[in-house]
Amino acid sequence: MTTSEELFERALGVTPGGVSSPVRAFGSVGGAPRFLASARGAYVTDVEGREYVDLVGSWGPALLGHAHPEVVAAVQEAAARGLGFGAPTLAEVELAEAVRERVPAVERLRLVSTGTEATMTAIRVARGVTGRDRVIKFAGNYHGHSDGLLAAAGSGVATLALPGSAGVPASIAAETIVLPYGDVAAVEAAFAEHGPTVAAIIYEAAPANMGVVPPPPGYNAALARIAHAHGALLIQDEVLTGFRVGPAGWWGLEAQREGWTPDLLTFGKVVGGGLPVAALGGRAEVMDALAPLGPVYQAGTLSGNPVATAAGLATLRLADDAVYARVDTASATVQAAVSEAFAAAGLPHTVQRASNLFSTVLGTDAGARDYAQVLASEAWRYPAFFHSLLRDGVYAPPSAFEAWFLSAAHDDAALDRVLAALPAAARAAAA
Ligand code: PLP
Repeated sequence: MTTSEELFERALGVTPGGVSSPVRAFGSVGGAPRFLASARGAYVTDVEGREYVDLVGSWGPALLGHAHPEVVAAVQEAAARGLGFGAPTLAEVELAEAVRERVPAVERLRLVSTGTEATMTAIRVARGVTGRDRVIKFAGNYHGHSDGLLAAAGSGVATLALPGSAGVPASIAAETIVLPYGDVAAVEAAFAEHGPTVAAIIYEAAPANMGVVPPPPGYNAALARIAHAHGALLIQDEVLTGFRVGPAGWWGLEAQREGWTPDLLTFGKVVGGGLPVAALGGRAEVMDALAPLGPVYQAGTLSGNPVATAAGLATLRLADDAVYARVDTASATVQAAVSEAFAAAGLPHTVQRASNLFSTVLGTDAGARDYAQVLASEAWRYPAFFHSLLRDGVYAPPSAFEAWFLSAAHDDAALDRVLAALPAAARAAAA
């Protein structure tokens, strides 16, 4: 039998760091990453046949659990009809309509293949429409790995303790203004100084890549007000929250209720049902700046790929109220158990939540409201917690700075296994 350790050694000889995406390398928790062989429902199985309750969910897409039979059937049917045409298809229209039905702020939608492409293109649209170059983003918010958006990004950039990335030209980084998260006065000050040159504010609808840091009440609405007062566009990044925190994403939980709306929204993860689909959408007059109608160019050989689109469409159609109710309940159960376990172990902590997304801040009861506070927490306690869970058959996110993802497939049996593993893991973190 091949072990994960052996495969990691082999991978290290052929691919940088042995992985196709940095956080998978277990860099911040140590040890060889588990090489996975299969996944079904709430479980993943490694190459040694060990089964784990999965709390990573493919980093978000697995809202229904892994390999939902109806999604797999839709993918198989689509694949049998052809893997790709590079021509328009019915499924693309249906997926765009399904998104607009759920998020009416999306009058037009363009399909791309990754969240990185979606945010990169949204920025280009904002620049094309406004004729301005600067972009405001927030420290600890992650929007994928395009050049201008890597400054003070969360996710793997946080896990690896990088300030940004080598290889980003200083001239491009200079177009990004990075502000502390949650500080409205800082946004106002930035606009007072640079207003006429700012094309857009981009922000995570609810930040979940520096751990989960829910937006303070009224914060996103304030961003909308300030951006629009200065003629800049508002780009709400829902790559992670879209179709996960509810059928209309964070937009449905907040903007729709409050009566304001972003100009552009970006989606990924759940909208592709586990395959490479992402999208940007928004007001028609803004989106129509995209080629072939307008002067902003964007294209993709694999955009709207029929197999991937079939997975996304099947997933959205299956994501009914019962699915969201189950994800919310499963998440609340785990949140409570995590908190109880840390309390019993005598470890100060905060479970931070944004709807059904959550993560833990260790070593403080005060929580963390921005990136600096997240980085000041006792994340060094997380590896012992993580490895104890892993030994007991629970696959938690391999970084303290990533959100935990539950699914509708996390039934009581799966949750019981998580609950049973938590006390020992919390004691390991507290030691
Ligand atoms: N935006 C957010 C909020 C994300 O969480 C991510 C990925 O985690 C991205 C953008 C980038 O998406 P992708 O990894 O598909 O490029």
